[in-house]
Amino acid sequence: MKPNPQDLDQFAQQHGLGAIGVTDIDKLRKQEPEALINVPAEFSCAIVIGVRLVDAVIDQIEDRPTPLYFHLYRQANFTLDRIAYRLALELQDTGYRSIAVPASQITEPGGRKGLVSHRLLGYAAGIGWIGRPTLLVHPRYGARMRYAAVLTDAPYQPGVPMENRCGECRECMEVCPVAAIKESSREFDLDACYKKLNEFRKLPFIGQHVCGICVRACSGPKCL
Ligand code: SF4
Ligand code: SF4
Repeated sequence: MKPNPQDLDQFAQQHGLGAIGVTDIDKLRKQEPEALINVPAEFSCAIVIGVRLVDAVIDQIEDRPTPLYFHLYRQANFTLDRIAYRLALELQDTGYRSIAVPASQITEPGGRKGLVSHRLLGYAAGIGWIGRPTLLVHPRYGARMRYAAVLTDAPYQPGVPMENRCGECRECMEVCPVAAIKESSREFDLDACYKKLNEFRKLPFIGQHVCGICVRACSGPKCL
């Protein structure tokens, strides 16, 4: 696979991805040094991949995550991890250094963060914008997506960040059970959200920090 965007579109089609985009890591590092502190300097580019979540499962969520949603969340992560792994290997076989960043992996003891934020990478790649609940909002699929990334030194053409299109929509704010979502993503109450996720984690057949309530609300064209 040669490093050009057409190949990436083809790769996305072959693997049933809902989104693919490229981030200029060197540029982003200057704007958000703290957020990229754990990304090794040898990687100048991130390829962000996204898969869609299944609407019929998301639409069953009311005031808590359902066991089916938990399963969907894990399967989406698993699917992304397999595709990212494949992409990293293809790049490696073409002569580029690459690592796949898992869709959901905490890398700090007792922390809440992974190696790098897929939302930030996806935003910088032009896949969507950061909505009020700090989720990456895709213009077509809303927040009903999951993402992973491949860090590489392959010279892909980066995308351009998208303007925020939340506009007058406040669907997510209205449904959050702990009022964590505010007018601006910068005011998002992460502690309140995390406390609720801790509660949800203890529900039967859940066992992980998932919610899905604001993901359900942000359904793309229906709320935009
Ligand atoms: S994940 Fe749940 S608790 Fe957190 S902001 Fe969204 S709706 Fe609120
Ligand atoms: S539900 Fe509306 S306000 Fe909330 S993130 Fe999505 S588009 Fe933005």
